Amino acid sequence: MIEKTLSIIKPDGVKKGVIGDIVKTFEENGLKVVAMKMIHMSKREAEGFYAVHKEKPFFQSLTDFMCSGPSVVQVLEGKNAIDKNREIMGATNPKDADPDTIRDKHGSSIEVNTVHGSDAPETAKTEIAYFFSDIETFS
Ligand code: ADP
Ligand code: MG
Repeated sequence: MIEKTLSIIKPDGVKKGVIGDIVKTFEENGLKVVAMKMIHMSKREAEGFYAVHKEKPFFQSLTDFMCSGPSVVQVLEGKNAIDKNREIMGATNPKDADPDTIRDKHGSSIEVNTVHGSDAPETAKTEIAYFFSDIETFS
C-alpha cells in the first residue's frame, strides 16, 4: 500500500552535516520526499509533538534536545512507507540498530538518535498534520 509518513532529521543530524546522506538513503530505498522544510522547534512545539511521552522520565531532556537547533521535517511517500522508514532508521537505541541503518551510522545515544519516524497510520496522519498543511504536501 502506498503510504505517507513523517520523518524528522533531528538537530544532531543537521549539526553533523548528514542531511544529504540520510535523504539519499530514503531515496535509494524507494521513499520519495513529498514535503520538506527546516524548522527550529520551540520548546512548546517539541512538547506538543512528543506529548505521548509526557509522563516518561526522559521527556524534559528529549524536548530540550529537540529544540537545541534546527531540524529537517519531511513527508516520505512510498510502498509501506511507515514500516520501511522504521527499518531504514534502525532501533531507537543506536547500540541495538542493525548495521547500515541511519541510527547505526549516525546516532549517538538512545536520545540523540538522529531521526524520527511515525510508527503507525494514525500517528503518521496526525504527525504530518502537525507540521504541514494539505497544500504543502505533494504526491
Ligand atoms: P522511536 O523514536 O524509535 O519511535 P520512542 O517513540 O520510544 O522511539 O521515543 C521517542 C524518542 O525519545 C526516541 O527517538 C529518543 O530520541 C527518545 N528516547 C526514547 N527512549 C529514551 C530513553 N530511555 N532515554 C532517553 N531518550 C529516549
Ligand atoms: Mg516513537
